[in-house]
Amino acid sequence: MISGAGAVPAPTDVFIAQHLINGAWVSSASGQTFDRFSPANGQLVTQAALGGEAEVEAAIAAARTAFDDRRWSDTSGKERATFLLKVADLIDANRSRIALYETMESGKPIAQAEAEIEGAADIWRFAASLARTIHGDSHNTLGPDMLGVVLKEPIGVVSMITPWNFPFLIVSQKLPFALAAGCTAVIKPSELTSATTVILGQLLIEAGLPAGVVNIVLGYGDPVGTNLTNHPDVDMVSFTGSTAVGKAIVAATSKTLKKVSLELGGKNPQVIFPDADLDEAADAIVFGIYFNAGQCCNSGSRIIVHHDIAAVLIQKIVELSRKVPFGDPLNPSTKVGAIISSQHQAKIDGYVKDAVKAGATVAIGGAPLTIDGMSGEFYQPTVVANVTKNMAIASEEVFGPVLSVLTFTTFDEALEIANGGDYGLSAGVWSQDISTCLKFARRVQAGTVWTNTWMDGFAELPFGGAKESGLGRELGHHGMDEYLETKTVQMRIGKTRSRWV
Ligand code: NDP
Repeated sequence: MISGAGAVPAPTDVFIAQHLINGAWVSSASGQTFDRFSPANGQLVTQAALGGEAEVEAAIAAARTAFDDRRWSDTSGKERATFLLKVADLIDANRSRIALYETMESGKPIAQAEAEIEGAADIWRFAASLARTIHGDSHNTLGPDMLGVVLKEPIGVVSMITPWNFPFLIVSQKLPFALAAGCTAVIKPSELTSATTVILGQLLIEAGLPAGVVNIVLGYGDPVGTNLTNHPDVDMVSFTGSTAVGKAIVAATSKTLKKVSLELGGKNPQVIFPDADLDEAADAIVFGIYFNAGQCCNSGSRIIVHHDIAAVLIQKIVELSRKVPFGDPLNPSTKVGAIISSQHQAKIDGYVKDAVKAGATVAIGGAPLTIDGMSGEFYQPTVVANVTKNMAIASEEVFGPVLSVLTFTTFDEALEIANGGDYGLSAGVWSQDISTCLKFARRVQAGTVWTNTWMDGFAELPFGGAKESGLGRELGHHGMDEYLETKTVQMRIGKTRSRWV
């Protein structure tokens, strides 16, 4: 376990977070605020303005006006790309500061936070490259007097609602693509992690973004999130979070038929065949389940291992689990930090206890973890074996450092278990035989499939879910396409149209 010795110093001042509305930083009309304490040590990190209907209304009005008067959508691709590259440079220049607040509010390790901020800057650069490539197409085979032109236009005002697990990375999977497309936005970060979205707002202003193009409203899902999804002046909602809230958003947006893009939960399986490199697989499995303390939509939270190699693989995973440095998030050596809240810690523990009652066995862990000098919430690296597919732990998102182990004997059985349940975010397969990997990759129901690896990610490659894991895609050119509307223009050349009357 990693304690506080050698840790990066915590901030000495409380971060004061305000709303960004029409280019100005403002408090709430009510004057109310809310506090965020570090989940690792209880320190007061952020005091944020508590948004209500008045702030949402003002932010949407600002975004609507900024879109309708074309102050952003009329800029050229070159100008948008130049701006996005400037933001990327500012993110790099402010990496340590952003990472520090990301760690303080979320409890994630500082080294991981730094890597995420670096990755976020890369996404802004990738989106900049797309800003200059937007184009529709043309049809000149519609007859001699007709030319058809298909235009790609920005969809309009986008509400972006983000969760607490990767606050800066997730807003960076949405905003630069929307800006590249020419949209305007209102962002609501999770109330647990407001600070780094506010810092991003500061960087956008520093980079010269016109007022009203990006607005930020801080506060709770209700009323801020609900108003951002109900409002008639919003054209699209881009949401990352739980499937339950995703469904509520689909219901709310159906009243005004907004476009919706959803990145939701997952119960991501990895199937391990007997010919797999078990040492490679064990290392990736441990990374997949403990990264971000398992609070990750892409968490590799269940493995489906061939019966003949199950005992050997579990042994390897347990041995590696003992070595993973859990502890103080501010210590650069830490790889797994705190759990986001005590309520969430209780939820994680409940899944493990229920699985044991249902007949599963705990191979390692299975209880909260105490770290010297830290008052916050931590959970032991946990491997639960003898899990069967009807247990809640096998099909529901635990969102903690808890691996479920199921077994199979035939390919079809493995596939049936992998495809069971409501989610379809990502999946993995481990085998030295490329045919086995490809057969699995083509039949598994998932938005992303990793073969002999886990959780690599690239700005170039689309990410999103099948089934109840989401709608639409982020990243890649697909990520920008989500924010574009298609318009067809049919042009008659000369007076060749035959009169109807
Ligand atoms: P939620 O889905 O509840 O929240 C995500 C975001 O949506 C937050 O900003 C939240 O605000 C907001 N929100 C909540 N209710 C509404 C609503 N009705 N309309 C619009 N916006 C709303 O996730 P939680 O943070 O509460 O986590 C709960 C569970 O969700 C986790 O245990 C995990 O299983 C899953 N989850 C999945 C994620 C993923 O990446 N797929 C990410 C985070 C969570 P506020 O924070 O104020 O409630």
